[in-house]
Amino acid sequence: MVTGHQASSQASARARARMVERLRADGIRDERVLAALNTVPRHAFVEEALASRAYEDTALPLGFQQTISQPYVVARMAEVLSAGGRKLGKTLEVGAGCGYQAAVLSYLATDVYAVERIGKLLDKARANLRPLRLPNVRLKHGDGSLGIPEVAPFDSIILAAAATTTPRSLVDQLAPGGRMVFPFGQASSDQVMVMIERSMTGSFKETRLDPVRFVPLLPGTE
Ligand code: SAH
Repeated sequence: MVTGHQASSQASARARARMVERLRADGIRDERVLAALNTVPRHAFVEEALASRAYEDTALPLGFQQTISQPYVVARMAEVLSAGGRKLGKTLEVGAGCGYQAAVLSYLATDVYAVERIGKLLDKARANLRPLRLPNVRLKHGDGSLGIPEVAPFDSIILAAAATTTPRSLVDQLAPGGRMVFPFGQASSDQVMVMIERSMTGSFKETRLDPVRFVPLLPGTE
């Protein structure tokens, strides 16, 4: 006998597999990244009323004027971090939102530290992540642009909100050989994805990648 719950989880697994095939068609090549997106139940991170749209390649509202990132962008940023067969290692995510991207990163990184400035959104992320029992994800309420000095250095840093200047404290918390990817620019005008690499000797290299559209990185907490 197939229960309603089993039927719906089979339907969401099929929808998720189709989403991954679209990401592949759109140019995402990293099999580890695609496998992670094929594993995380995105529908469990959005409001019930939006769950049927969870596997469309679009950003969806989370409340608090924030959005869950578009699957393509989550995949693309993860791919940038892992390009060249690089391991993500100890990873900092700034802007945990509903926790979706943290769940995806948990399959690619040794540890994920995800910081969110809106306390009520962080509570949602906690509730969304709990049933998935991902042992290597830690959530923190705070201003993520300050990083987490007591946990630094990080091998990888990813921002889910757009910075208007290069976030200095985050760059300082990058380990030698570390890589950071973030949306850069004003929310209303052109934003571009930027990658910063720290060499083993401590020098930095900045590369501008795809045009993107993100909510702004904001100071402080609420
Ligand atoms: N990673 C999320 C995307 C959330 S949208 C996902 O998986 O869908 C971006 C998030 O960044 C918002 O929740 C916003 O509140 C948060 N944010 C913005 N500025 C921040 C800051 N300085 N520190 C921590 N979080 C921040």
